[in-house]
Amino acid sequence: MYGFVKRDIRSSVYRAVSDFLLKNASDDWRKLPVNSASFHLMFGERNKLPFGRLGHEPGLVQLVNYYRGSDILCRKTAMIRLFKEFFKSTGKPSPKWLPESFILCPKDITKNLQKAGEHSSVLLRKSPKPDERNDFIKAAEKLAKQEGKPVIWIAKSSAGSKGEGIKISERPEELIEFVDTQTQGFIVQRYINNPYLLKGDRKFDIRSWVLLDTNYNIYLFREGVLRTASESYKADDLDATLGHLTNHCLQLELSPNFGAYEEGNEMFFDEFNSYLWKKSSVTMDTMIIPQIKDIVKASLTIVKERICTSCLGYQSFQLFGFDFMLDDDLKIWLLEINGAPACAQKLLPDLARSLVQTAIDPVYPPSDPGGRGDNWFQRIT
Ligand code: ADP
Repeated sequence: MYGFVKRDIRSSVYRAVSDFLLKNASDDWRKLPVNSASFHLMFGERNKLPFGRLGHEPGLVQLVNYYRGSDILCRKTAMIRLFKEFFKSTGKPSPKWLPESFILCPKDITKNLQKAGEHSSVLLRKSPKPDERNDFIKAAEKLAKQEGKPVIWIAKSSAGSKGEGIKISERPEELIEFVDTQTQGFIVQRYINNPYLLKGDRKFDIRSWVLLDTNYNIYLFREGVLRTASESYKADDLDATLGHLTNHCLQLELSPNFGAYEEGNEMFFDEFNSYLWKKSSVTMDTMIIPQIKDIVKASLTIVKERICTSCLGYQSFQLFGFDFMLDDDLKIWLLEINGAPACAQKLLPDLARSLVQTAIDPVYPPSDPGGRGDNWFQRIT
Protein backbone atom coordinates (compact mmCIF):
# COMPACT_ATOMS: atom_id res chain seq x y z
CA MET A 1 0.00 0.00 0.00
CA TYR A 2 1.26 3.48 -0.92
CA GLY A 3 0.60 6.67 1.02
CA PHE A 4 0.18 10.21 -0.28
CA VAL A 5 0.09 13.58 1.40
CA LYS A 6 -2.00 16.41 -0.02
CA ARG A 7 -0.87 19.82 1.13
CA ASP A 8 -2.34 21.92 -1.65
CA ILE A 9 -5.96 22.59 -0.79
CA ARG A 10 -6.59 25.09 -3.58
CA SER A 11 -5.69 23.17 -6.72
CA SER A 12 -8.74 21.72 -8.46
CA VAL A 13 -6.43 19.45 -10.49
CA TYR A 14 -4.82 17.87 -7.42
CA ARG A 15 -8.18 17.57 -5.72
CA ALA A 16 -9.34 15.54 -8.73
CA VAL A 17 -6.13 13.47 -8.78
CA SER A 18 -6.38 12.74 -5.08
CA ASP A 19 -10.09 11.80 -5.45
CA PHE A 20 -9.15 9.52 -8.33
CA LEU A 21 -6.56 7.69 -6.23
CA LEU A 22 -8.97 7.25 -3.33
CA LYS A 23 -11.92 6.13 -5.47
CA ASN A 24 -10.30 4.20 -8.31
CA ALA A 25 -7.10 3.00 -6.71
CA SER A 26 -8.16 2.54 -3.11
CA ASP A 27 -6.54 -0.92 -2.99
CA ASP A 28 -3.18 0.72 -3.62
CA TRP A 29 -3.37 4.23 -2.16
CA ARG A 30 -4.34 5.87 1.10
CA LYS A 31 -4.23 9.48 2.16
CA LEU A 32 -1.87 10.31 5.04
CA PRO A 33 -2.03 13.20 7.51
CA VAL A 34 -0.64 16.44 6.08
CA ASN A 35 2.49 16.43 8.24
CA SER A 36 3.52 12.80 7.72
CA ALA A 37 7.22 12.53 6.91
CA SER A 38 6.97 9.00 5.60
CA PHE A 39 5.02 9.16 2.33
CA HIS A 40 5.46 7.92 -1.23
CA LEU A 41 3.83 10.87 -2.96
CA MET A 42 3.29 14.51 -2.06
CA PHE A 43 0.88 16.94 -3.72
CA GLY A 44 2.57 20.05 -2.40
CA GLU A 45 1.85 23.72 -2.63
CA ARG A 46 3.67 25.52 -5.40
CA ASN A 47 6.63 27.56 -4.11
CA LYS A 48 6.26 26.03 -0.65
CA LEU A 49 7.61 22.55 -1.26
CA PRO A 50 10.05 21.24 1.33
CA PHE A 51 12.47 20.02 -1.37
CA GLY A 52 15.41 19.98 1.07
CA ARG A 53 13.61 17.50 3.31
CA LEU A 54 12.57 15.13 0.52
CA GLY A 55 14.30 11.90 -0.32
CA HIS A 56 15.72 11.17 3.13
CA GLU A 57 13.29 8.41 4.16
CA PRO A 58 15.16 5.09 4.10
CA GLY A 59 13.72 2.67 1.56
CA LEU A 60 11.32 5.23 0.02
CA VAL A 61 11.52 6.89 -3.41
CA GLN A 62 9.54 10.03 -2.73
CA LEU A 63 7.64 11.57 -5.60
CA VAL A 64 6.50 15.20 -5.68
CA ASN A 65 4.34 17.13 -8.13
CA TYR A 66 6.74 20.01 -8.92
CA TYR A 67 10.20 20.31 -10.40
CA ARG A 68 12.33 22.51 -8.19
CA GLY A 69 13.25 25.71 -10.02
CA SER A 70 10.67 25.32 -12.80
CA ASP A 71 9.33 28.71 -11.83
CA ILE A 72 11.97 30.21 -14.08
CA LEU A 73 9.74 29.22 -17.01
CA CYS A 74 6.59 30.48 -15.38
CA ARG A 75 7.45 34.10 -14.54
CA LYS A 76 7.39 36.19 -17.68
CA THR A 77 10.62 38.16 -17.09
CA ALA A 78 12.55 35.05 -16.01
CA MET A 79 11.33 33.08 -19.02
CA ILE A 80 12.35 35.81 -21.46
CA ARG A 81 15.77 36.13 -19.82
CA LEU A 82 16.27 32.35 -19.88
CA PHE A 83 15.34 32.07 -23.56
CA LYS A 84 17.45 35.07 -24.60
CA GLU A 85 20.50 33.81 -22.70
CA PHE A 86 20.08 30.35 -24.18
CA PHE A 87 19.88 31.55 -27.78
CA LYS A 88 22.73 34.00 -27.30
CA SER A 89 25.05 31.46 -25.68
CA THR A 90 24.31 28.71 -28.22
CA GLY A 91 24.47 31.04 -31.21
CA LYS A 92 21.13 29.66 -32.42
CA PRO A 93 18.66 32.09 -34.01
CA SER A 94 15.88 33.37 -31.72
CA PRO A 95 12.81 31.18 -31.98
CA LYS A 96 10.19 32.31 -34.47
CA TRP A 97 7.39 31.40 -32.04
CA LEU A 98 8.33 33.94 -29.37
CA PRO A 99 7.15 37.52 -29.95
CA GLU A 100 10.09 39.95 -29.69
CA SER A 101 10.28 40.84 -25.98
CA PHE A 102 12.21 43.11 -23.62
CA ILE A 103 12.48 43.15 -19.84
CA LEU A 104 11.65 46.42 -18.09
CA CYS A 105 12.12 47.16 -14.43
CA PRO A 106 10.47 50.23 -12.86
CA LYS A 107 13.14 52.94 -12.46
CA ASP A 108 12.53 53.52 -8.78
CA ILE A 109 10.91 50.29 -7.71
CA THR A 110 11.75 50.86 -4.03
CA LYS A 111 9.87 54.18 -4.01
CA ASN A 112 6.90 52.60 -5.81
CA LEU A 113 6.82 49.73 -3.35
CA GLN A 114 6.96 52.08 -0.37
CA LYS A 115 4.17 54.14 -1.90
CA ALA A 116 2.12 50.96 -2.23
CA GLY A 117 2.79 50.27 1.47
CA GLU A 118 4.83 47.12 0.89
CA HIS A 119 6.69 45.52 3.81
CA SER A 120 10.52 45.75 3.97
CA SER A 121 10.98 42.00 3.33
CA VAL A 122 9.07 42.44 0.08
CA LEU A 123 11.32 45.37 -0.81
CA LEU A 124 14.37 43.15 -0.46
CA ARG A 125 12.85 40.34 -2.51
CA LYS A 126 11.89 42.70 -5.29
CA SER A 127 15.30 44.29 -5.77
CA PRO A 128 15.75 45.85 -9.23
CA LYS A 129 16.67 43.62 -12.15
CA PRO A 130 18.51 44.31 -15.40
CA ASP A 131 16.52 46.58 -17.65
CA GLU A 132 16.35 46.54 -21.45
CA ARG A 133 14.55 49.85 -22.02
CA ASN A 134 17.26 51.22 -24.32
CA ASP A 135 17.19 48.09 -26.47
CA PHE A 136 13.39 48.31 -26.53
CA ILE A 137 13.39 51.94 -27.72
CA LYS A 138 15.95 51.14 -30.44
CA ALA A 139 14.02 48.06 -31.61
CA ALA A 140 10.72 49.94 -31.65
CA GLU A 141 12.24 52.73 -33.74
CA LYS A 142 13.87 50.30 -36.15
CA LEU A 143 10.68 48.29 -36.63
CA ALA A 144 8.55 51.41 -37.11
CA LYS A 145 10.98 52.55 -39.82
CA GLN A 146 10.91 49.14 -41.53
CA GLU A 147 7.13 48.97 -41.50
CA GLY A 148 6.55 52.65 -42.29
CA LYS A 149 4.28 53.03 -39.23
CA PRO A 150 4.54 52.58 -35.45
CA VAL A 151 4.22 48.96 -34.29
CA ILE A 152 2.10 47.95 -31.32
CA TRP A 153 3.57 46.60 -28.06
CA ILE A 154 2.00 45.02 -25.02
CA ALA A 155 3.40 45.48 -21.48
CA LYS A 156 2.67 42.60 -19.08
CA SER A 157 3.67 42.27 -15.46
CA SER A 158 6.03 39.42 -14.68
CA ALA A 159 3.89 37.51 -12.24
CA GLY A 160 0.59 38.93 -13.49
CA SER A 161 -2.41 36.88 -14.37
CA LYS A 162 -6.06 37.44 -15.11
CA GLY A 163 -5.18 40.38 -17.37
CA GLU A 164 -4.02 42.58 -14.49
CA GLY A 165 -1.19 45.05 -15.13
CA ILE A 166 -1.45 45.01 -18.92
CA LYS A 167 -1.10 47.97 -21.25
CA ILE A 168 -1.16 48.02 -25.06
CA SER A 169 0.27 50.97 -26.97
CA GLU A 170 2.18 51.95 -30.09
CA ARG A 171 4.08 54.61 -28.14
CA PRO A 172 7.15 53.06 -26.40
CA GLU A 173 7.50 56.09 -24.09
CA GLU A 174 3.93 55.58 -22.87
CA LEU A 175 4.70 51.95 -21.96
CA ILE A 176 7.94 52.92 -20.21
CA GLU A 177 6.11 55.61 -18.21
CA PHE A 178 3.47 53.05 -17.27
CA VAL A 179 6.05 50.47 -16.13
CA ASP A 180 7.90 53.11 -14.10
CA THR A 181 4.84 53.52 -11.86
CA GLN A 182 4.68 49.77 -11.11
CA THR A 183 6.02 47.60 -8.31
CA GLN A 184 7.39 44.60 -10.22
CA GLY A 185 9.30 43.65 -13.36
CA PHE A 186 7.51 43.75 -16.71
CA ILE A 187 8.03 42.51 -20.20
CA VAL A 188 7.13 44.56 -23.24
CA GLN A 189 6.37 42.33 -26.15
CA ARG A 190 5.49 42.84 -29.78
CA TYR A 191 1.72 42.77 -30.04
CA ILE A 192 0.33 40.14 -32.40
CA ASN A 193 -2.04 42.42 -34.26
CA ASN A 194 -3.28 39.91 -36.83
CA PRO A 195 -4.99 37.29 -34.63
CA TYR A 196 -6.95 34.45 -36.19
CA LEU A 197 -10.56 35.34 -35.46
CA LEU A 198 -13.65 33.33 -34.58
CA LYS A 199 -17.24 34.00 -35.65
CA GLY A 200 -18.06 37.59 -34.64
CA ASP A 201 -14.43 38.67 -35.28
CA ARG A 202 -13.38 37.47 -31.86
CA LYS A 203 -9.89 36.80 -30.61
CA PHE A 204 -8.91 33.78 -28.48
CA ASP A 205 -5.93 32.16 -26.84
CA ILE A 206 -5.20 28.43 -26.64
CA ARG A 207 -4.42 26.46 -23.47
CA SER A 208 -2.62 23.12 -23.76
CA TRP A 209 -1.75 20.90 -20.82
CA VAL A 210 1.70 19.37 -20.76
CA LEU A 211 3.10 16.80 -18.36
CA LEU A 212 6.73 16.19 -17.53
CA ASP A 213 7.34 12.78 -15.96
CA THR A 214 10.08 11.66 -13.59
CA ASN A 215 12.36 10.76 -16.51
CA TYR A 216 11.87 14.16 -18.16
CA ASN A 217 9.70 12.65 -20.89
CA ILE A 218 7.24 15.24 -22.23
CA TYR A 219 3.56 14.51 -22.86
CA LEU A 220 0.83 16.63 -24.47
CA PHE A 221 -2.78 16.24 -23.37
CA ARG A 222 -4.88 15.44 -26.42
CA GLU A 223 -7.65 17.92 -25.58
CA GLY A 224 -7.16 21.64 -25.18
CA VAL A 225 -9.30 24.71 -24.85
CA LEU A 226 -9.68 28.06 -26.57
CA ARG A 227 -10.49 30.91 -24.20
CA THR A 228 -12.51 33.26 -26.32
CA ALA A 229 -13.28 36.97 -26.20
CA SER A 230 -16.95 37.87 -26.18
CA GLU A 231 -16.40 41.23 -27.89
CA SER A 232 -15.10 41.77 -31.40
CA TYR A 233 -11.47 42.60 -32.12
CA LYS A 234 -10.85 46.16 -33.31
CA ALA A 235 -7.24 46.45 -34.44
CA ASP A 236 -7.18 50.24 -34.27
CA ASP A 237 -9.00 50.69 -30.96
CA LEU A 238 -6.43 49.64 -28.39
CA ASP A 239 -8.62 50.81 -25.51
CA ALA A 240 -11.38 48.31 -26.33
CA THR A 241 -9.79 45.91 -23.84
CA LEU A 242 -12.36 43.12 -24.06
CA GLY A 243 -11.61 42.60 -27.76
CA HIS A 244 -7.84 42.47 -27.10
CA LEU A 245 -7.43 40.51 -23.87
CA THR A 246 -8.93 37.05 -23.74
CA ASN A 247 -8.36 36.39 -20.03
CA HIS A 248 -11.28 34.45 -18.65
CA CYS A 249 -11.67 36.47 -15.44
CA LEU A 250 -11.68 39.75 -17.31
CA GLN A 251 -14.31 38.59 -19.80
CA LEU A 252 -16.45 37.11 -17.04
CA GLU A 253 -16.28 40.22 -14.91
CA LEU A 254 -16.66 42.90 -17.56
CA SER A 255 -18.38 41.63 -20.68
CA PRO A 256 -22.17 41.62 -20.82
CA ASN A 257 -21.80 39.06 -23.63
CA PHE A 258 -19.91 36.49 -21.57
CA GLY A 259 -21.17 33.07 -22.65
CA ALA A 260 -23.16 34.45 -25.60
CA TYR A 261 -21.05 32.66 -28.24
CA GLU A 262 -19.64 29.69 -26.33
CA GLU A 263 -20.65 28.33 -22.96
CA GLY A 264 -18.26 29.87 -20.43
CA ASN A 265 -16.29 31.47 -23.33
CA GLU A 266 -14.61 28.10 -23.91
CA MET A 267 -14.30 26.22 -27.18
CA PHE A 268 -12.76 22.76 -27.27
CA PHE A 269 -10.47 21.39 -29.98
CA ASP A 270 -13.08 19.36 -31.89
CA GLU A 271 -15.32 22.35 -32.46
CA PHE A 272 -12.38 24.56 -33.38
CA ASN A 273 -11.12 21.89 -35.76
CA SER A 274 -14.42 22.07 -37.70
CA TYR A 275 -14.22 25.87 -37.75
CA LEU A 276 -10.59 25.77 -38.97
CA TRP A 277 -11.51 23.37 -41.70
CA LYS A 278 -14.44 25.46 -42.92
CA LYS A 279 -12.59 28.77 -42.73
CA SER A 280 -9.05 27.79 -43.81
CA SER A 281 -9.19 24.17 -45.08
CA VAL A 282 -6.63 22.97 -42.51
CA THR A 283 -6.93 20.81 -39.40
CA MET A 284 -5.58 20.94 -35.86
CA ASP A 285 -3.55 17.80 -36.48
CA THR A 286 -1.83 19.02 -39.61
CA MET A 287 -1.38 22.70 -38.87
CA ILE A 288 -1.67 23.54 -35.16
CA ILE A 289 -0.62 20.58 -33.01
CA PRO A 290 2.81 20.11 -34.70
CA GLN A 291 3.67 23.76 -33.93
CA ILE A 292 2.49 23.36 -30.33
CA LYS A 293 4.62 20.22 -29.92
CA ASP A 294 7.73 21.97 -31.25
CA ILE A 295 7.31 24.92 -28.87
CA VAL A 296 6.65 22.71 -25.84
CA LYS A 297 9.66 20.50 -26.58
CA ALA A 298 11.98 23.45 -27.17
CA SER A 299 10.90 25.29 -23.98
CA LEU A 300 11.26 22.30 -21.68
CA THR A 301 14.55 21.27 -23.26
CA ILE A 302 16.01 24.75 -22.67
CA VAL A 303 15.23 24.58 -18.94
CA LYS A 304 16.17 20.90 -18.51
CA GLU A 305 19.64 21.22 -17.06
CA ARG A 306 18.43 23.69 -14.43
CA ILE A 307 15.61 21.60 -13.05
CA CYS A 308 16.30 17.94 -13.83
CA THR A 309 16.16 15.70 -10.73
CA SER A 310 18.13 12.77 -12.10
CA CYS A 311 20.88 13.09 -9.44
CA LEU A 312 18.57 13.78 -6.49
CA GLY A 313 17.16 11.50 -3.82
CA TYR A 314 13.55 12.23 -4.77
CA GLN A 315 11.64 12.34 -8.04
CA SER A 316 9.45 15.00 -9.60
CA PHE A 317 6.74 15.32 -12.17
CA GLN A 318 4.88 18.48 -13.13
CA LEU A 319 1.83 19.59 -15.04
CA PHE A 320 2.21 22.80 -17.05
CA GLY A 321 -0.32 24.97 -18.85
CA PHE A 322 1.07 26.40 -22.10
CA ASP A 323 -0.79 29.44 -23.47
CA PHE A 324 -0.60 30.24 -27.17
CA MET A 325 -2.04 32.58 -29.76
CA LEU A 326 -2.77 31.82 -33.40
CA ASP A 327 -2.35 34.52 -36.03
CA ASP A 328 -4.10 34.81 -39.38
CA ASP A 329 -1.11 33.21 -41.13
CA LEU A 330 -1.90 30.12 -38.99
CA LYS A 331 1.26 30.61 -36.99
CA ILE A 332 1.33 29.69 -33.31
CA TRP A 333 3.01 32.03 -30.79
CA LEU A 334 3.93 31.23 -27.18
CA LEU A 335 2.42 33.70 -24.70
CA GLU A 336 3.27 32.19 -21.34
CA ILE A 337 3.74 29.01 -19.35
CA ASN A 338 1.79 28.33 -16.18
CA GLY A 339 3.39 26.04 -13.59
CA ALA A 340 0.21 25.28 -11.64
CA PRO A 341 -2.53 25.35 -14.25
CA ALA A 342 -6.23 25.03 -13.59
CA CYS A 343 -8.22 22.82 -15.93
CA ALA A 344 -11.55 23.28 -17.66
CA GLN A 345 -14.15 21.54 -15.46
CA LYS A 346 -15.29 19.30 -18.30
CA LEU A 347 -11.78 17.85 -18.75
CA LEU A 348 -10.84 17.35 -15.10
CA PRO A 349 -11.73 13.62 -14.80
CA ASP A 350 -9.80 12.75 -17.99
CA LEU A 351 -6.85 14.89 -16.96
CA ALA A 352 -6.71 13.42 -13.44
CA ARG A 353 -6.91 9.81 -14.66
CA SER A 354 -4.33 10.37 -17.41
CA LEU A 355 -1.96 12.15 -15.02
CA VAL A 356 -2.05 9.19 -12.64
CA GLN A 357 -1.40 6.78 -15.52
CA THR A 358 1.49 8.78 -16.93
CA ALA A 359 3.29 10.25 -13.94
CA ILE A 360 2.42 8.10 -10.92
CA ASP A 361 1.71 4.51 -12.07
CA PRO A 362 5.19 3.99 -13.58
CA VAL A 363 6.79 4.86 -10.21
CA TYR A 364 4.22 3.07 -8.03
CA PRO A 365 2.69 0.33 -10.18
CA PRO A 366 -1.02 -0.35 -9.60
CA SER A 367 -2.14 -3.81 -8.53
CA ASP A 368 -4.62 -3.85 -11.46
CA PRO A 369 -2.75 -2.17 -14.34
CA GLY A 370 -5.52 -2.84 -16.87
CA GLY A 371 -8.26 -1.06 -14.96
CA ARG A 372 -7.47 2.58 -15.63
CA GLY A 373 -9.06 3.33 -19.06
CA ASP A 374 -7.89 5.68 -21.79
CA ASN A 375 -4.75 7.74 -21.30
CA TRP A 376 -5.12 11.18 -22.94
CA PHE A 377 -1.46 12.15 -22.59
CA GLN A 378 0.60 11.50 -25.70
CA ARG A 379 4.36 11.29 -25.37
CA ILE A 380 6.04 13.82 -27.67
CA THR A 381 9.73 13.17 -26.91
P1 ADP B 1 -1.78 37.00 -18.02
O1 ADP B 1 -0.68 36.58 -17.18
O2 ADP B 1 -2.48 38.21 -17.58
O3 ADP B 1 -2.71 35.86 -18.36
P2 ADP B 1 -0.98 36.83 -20.80
O4 ADP B 1 0.40 36.79 -21.33
O5 ADP B 1 -1.74 35.55 -20.89
O6 ADP B 1 -1.00 37.43 -19.35
O7 ADP B 1 -1.78 37.94 -21.57
C1 ADP B 1 -3.14 38.19 -21.34
C2 ADP B 1 -3.90 38.26 -22.65
O8 ADP B 1 -3.36 39.31 -23.47
C3 ADP B 1 -3.74 37.00 -23.49
O9 ADP B 1 -4.72 36.05 -23.12
C4 ADP B 1 -3.93 37.53 -24.90
O10 ADP B 1 -5.30 37.63 -25.21
C5 ADP B 1 -3.33 38.92 -24.81
N1 ADP B 1 -1.92 38.95 -25.24
C6 ADP B 1 -0.84 38.68 -24.45
N2 ADP B 1 0.30 38.81 -25.14
C7 ADP B 1 -0.04 39.19 -26.39
C8 ADP B 1 0.70 39.49 -27.57
N3 ADP B 1 2.04 39.46 -27.62
N4 ADP B 1 0.01 39.84 -28.68
C9 ADP B 1 -1.35 39.88 -28.67
N5 ADP B 1 -2.10 39.62 -27.58
C10 ADP B 1 -1.46 39.27 -26.46
